[in-house]
Amino acid sequence: MGALQAEIERRGERIFDLVDRHPEPLFSKAGFYQRMMALSMRDEHFKVQLFRFVDVLASLHRGTDIVQHLDQYFADMRNGYAPLIRTGVRAAKIVPWISGQFLRWNVSGMARQFIAGRNPQDVMKTLRKRRAQGIGFTVDLLGEAVVSEQEANEYATRCLELLEHLGRETRDWTDPLGKNAELFPVVNLSVKISALYSQMNPADPADAIVHLAPKLRPILRRARELGAFVNFDMESYAHKNATLELFRALFTETEFRNWPHVGIVIQAYLRDAEDDLRDLLDWGRRRGTRFAVRLVKGAYWDFEKIRSRQNGWACPAFLQKPESDLNFELLTRIMLENESIVTSAFGSHNVRSIAHAQALADQLGIDRGRFEFQLLYGMAGPVKRALVEMGYRVREYSPVGELLPGMAYLVRRLLENTSNEGFLRAKFSENVSESELLRDPADLIAEGPNGARHVEVSGDGASLDTPPGDTYENAPLVNFVYEQNQDRMRQALEHVRTQLGQKYPLVINGEKVWTDKTIASINPSFPDNVVGHVAEAGIPEAERAVKAARDAFGKWSRTSFETRCRLLERAADIMHRRRYELSALEVFEVGKAWAEADGDIREAMDFCRFYAHQMRLIGRPRLTQHVLGEESYQHYWPRGVAMIIAPWNFPMAILCGMTTAALVTGNAVIMKPAEQSAVIGAMLMEIFEEAGVPPGVLNYLPGKGSVMGAHLVDHKDIDLIAFTGSREVGLRIWESAGKTREGQRELKRVICEMGGKNAVIIDADADLDEAIVDTIYSAFGYQGQKCSACSRLIILEEIYPRAMERLLNAAASLRVGNPEEPGITVGPVIDGTAYKRILEYIDIGRNESRLAFQRADVPQKGFFIPPTIFTNVSPKTRIACEEIFGPVLSVIRARDLDEALEIANGTEFALTAGFFSRSPANIERAKAEIVAGNVYINRSCTGAVVGRHPFGGFKMSGGGTKAGGADYLLQFVVPRVVTENITRHGFAPETTPQYRDEFLPPR
Ligand SMILES: Cc1cc2nc3c(=O)[nH]c(=O)nc-3n(C[C@H](O)[C@H](O)[C@H](O)COP(=O)(O)OP(=O)(O)OC[C@H]3O[C@@H](n4cnc5c(N)ncnc54)[C@H](O)[C@@H]3O)c2cc1C
Repeated sequence: MGALQAEIERRGERIFDLVDRHPEPLFSKAGFYQRMMALSMRDEHFKVQLFRFVDVLASLHRGTDIVQHLDQYFADMRNGYAPLIRTGVRAAKIVPWISGQFLRWNVSGMARQFIAGRNPQDVMKTLRKRRAQGIGFTVDLLGEAVVSEQEANEYATRCLELLEHLGRETRDWTDPLGKNAELFPVVNLSVKISALYSQMNPADPADAIVHLAPKLRPILRRARELGAFVNFDMESYAHKNATLELFRALFTETEFRNWPHVGIVIQAYLRDAEDDLRDLLDWGRRRGTRFAVRLVKGAYWDFEKIRSRQNGWACPAFLQKPESDLNFELLTRIMLENESIVTSAFGSHNVRSIAHAQALADQLGIDRGRFEFQLLYGMAGPVKRALVEMGYRVREYSPVGELLPGMAYLVRRLLENTSNEGFLRAKFSENVSESELLRDPADLIAEGPNGARHVEVSGDGASLDTPPGDTYENAPLVNFVYEQNQDRMRQALEHVRTQLGQKYPLVINGEKVWTDKTIASINPSFPDNVVGHVAEAGIPEAERAVKAARDAFGKWSRTSFETRCRLLERAADIMHRRRYELSALEVFEVGKAWAEADGDIREAMDFCRFYAHQMRLIGRPRLTQHVLGEESYQHYWPRGVAMIIAPWNFPMAILCGMTTAALVTGNAVIMKPAEQSAVIGAMLMEIFEEAGVPPGVLNYLPGKGSVMGAHLVDHKDIDLIAFTGSREVGLRIWESAGKTREGQRELKRVICEMGGKNAVIIDADADLDEAIVDTIYSAFGYQGQKCSACSRLIILEEIYPRAMERLLNAAASLRVGNPEEPGITVGPVIDGTAYKRILEYIDIGRNESRLAFQRADVPQKGFFIPPTIFTNVSPKTRIACEEIFGPVLSVIRARDLDEALEIANGTEFALTAGFFSRSPANIERAKAEIVAGNVYINRSCTGAVVGRHPFGGFKMSGGGTKAGGADYLLQFVVPRVVTENITRHGFAPETTPQYRDEFLPPR
């Protein structure tokens, strides 16, 4: 054993000794809370239900509501405590008012265990008590998630008030250790950066700094005047870089450059924490003034893991707990070795991590008064006491706030306290031995194959929990949190800008075809700028394309499906290679924001790979039934020539999705992009040519829908039409395809996806932090021009005033502008026609209802429509029933859930819907009763992911097809069964294989 490890053990044992002198259970509060925690640690399901119940409780006002929720969360418990819980629930129902209050009181008690005070006055009692115990403080203001600038400004004001109050009340306080006081001001404020700016976007740290710096300067100035310390807390990874940059930018300013009493958090659970710390130290040395770092492991581990899995990103945090512990120790060393520039604060409850810092500081000869340990209020009391007894500097992180915002904080603490991997549970609840708790984390890291430390790669493919057959792994989104990705996007925008204005031909039978007429595709942000001129196909070109496709069909339909799958996969690889360029083109041609454009290209790649994957599942003839003496195989033939008619709003994804489904199933294709996004269509054609699509199999034919498109829809040689677009055009196609023309071989198949008038319901107990952010995104993301967008918001009466207040403020805070800038949420609508039509609807809305909000400051050039919200909307008015396809939201108030569901279901459409609630019973009702093809609970109603959320609606939203779903390809084929009698003179093989090779003509 090395000397350091021996010293760590000695220190650790000493701390444990002191801790055991004043034995205290894990949770200092006895009774209800302790029993709940004990149960939670024994029963995972109970824990989930309990934490969810706690999460909703503060927003429930009536005793009956509280008891109803209690019943819904706990009535079906099947653990050993079930009868007890059921009896409790039954008793609670008898006197709901009293039991509601009783529960609230108990849970408030739980929250108070972790919240040091409700307001600045209240918290002083706690701080004084701690002062008497030799413990300092840092105060943190709890708040709801900030969804608007109004809320952000309120937070800034509260910070200033808190500072003033603390300054006044602690004027005569002195340093608890009586030495090195110049490094550790008494008043210490921790601020959450995301609470000061509502529009933080990982792609745009510069914008965050521009908005945050002016809000922070008065706080910092006042703190300095008062001799206080200010610490920037660290939140989720998405905000990390902006927080670091902001810190460096502000404290390099002349005014603050020589101020040492500023600090920032480094999260040791992050893989890039060491780089960040070293960068900070370099910066500090250049700046020439001390600063502080609070080293923690990190509070968002579960969140980071979930988020990265959902988006296909490599998790930024370590996945093994000892890896975080080990990194904490490495960073501890770096900090202490740089003591001349950085003041260290170690934020941990883990005795091993603490003992390591102590032992190392001694080894390096650093006085124990020159760094500090920080621990959370309400946790690990005996450890704090032990550290004080040992002569160390201890500071307590003391949250201040009301119960409602405190609940989110409480749930984080509950999770931390009951975590299987946490130190506190191991020590105080499970009595793990001291020697085990003091082991070197390096010895505990599980090794992966070949001795490599186990590192999870992005996405995780199939696992035991994966539904059968679901082995498809989506392409990751680009994570714009990384500077190199932001740079690549900027470069792509610059590059594409130099390519604008080019000419693009039709492609028929593998040949480039130019016509007299061209379509000018314009940039909706700057309508004078032409993105490209695309040759316009007329009837003669349409005829040529049909003939080419017909001729190519014969061979293509008899090509093995594997060859066709590989074509799609090659196309996806090319898209991957050209990903940024294609995204940049979308920014110019259809006004998509960065992340929206990237999402569209990702979806296109997913369609290619997903349909290839699906084709492999259905491609081989499959035995219908095991019968002796006979074999019957079902398989699929393509339908013939497919006409693809796509919209501009997902210019690459939808065009590519319909096209690839047709191609991979063996159809020949005529691809007609929307006129507004014809250049992106030309790119898709280019990609397929590079991927090696045979001549005639895919033909690129932009042109006027009403002329060339209509001609082809009626054409006898078109067998299948896949359409996504407006209801008006969709119905015309549906009708026209129903007529059988002379010489027509097949009954035309129409795959028709149309619009929606999608509703989101906010239930009385919804989490407004989530509901407002997601609804704003669903309604105004990409200017409300997604067929899935929320255009009707139905709010239950009880929550209406608060929800509206937050919604209107959030809409007022949205970033509207040229989407070339990163972090823009609302850009221009697609063209002049849409612009005019939406403005007409806004006029209709003014007459039918009340204009509650309209942004004033939108760019004057370009087709920018101000985000607009109508209230007092009656469900039968035009703005509540007709598809507007723009940033216009109609808000409808509902008496109760019955009425809300009736309104939601009361249109001709059935595409998407959203429901925000924390009532398990109401969630079940919504799942069963909302009439929509895609129902989303507690999340935005846009953003379907291929394979995960097969997408499409019914009623007047479409033919019930599900793009990106397992059965989508079946619409592009005809089923065929081949039966062979395999008996010869009474003799037949015993077994027949489940699958056989394709029925292909001999070569
Ligand atoms: C005073 C103070 C201030 C804090 N401020 C912040 C802050 O601003 N931002 C912030 O993010 N955190 C902050 N934290 C940290 C956080 O809230 C937790 O308290 C801390 O991570 C717990 O670590 P520990 O050393 O006490 O306990 P331990 O039990 O030793 O460690 C638990 C931690 O290990 C990590 N972990 C758990 N499971 C795994 C796994 N499977 N793989 C990898 N790592 C895992 C997680 O970070 C978890 O919190 C602060 C903590 C304190 C004490």
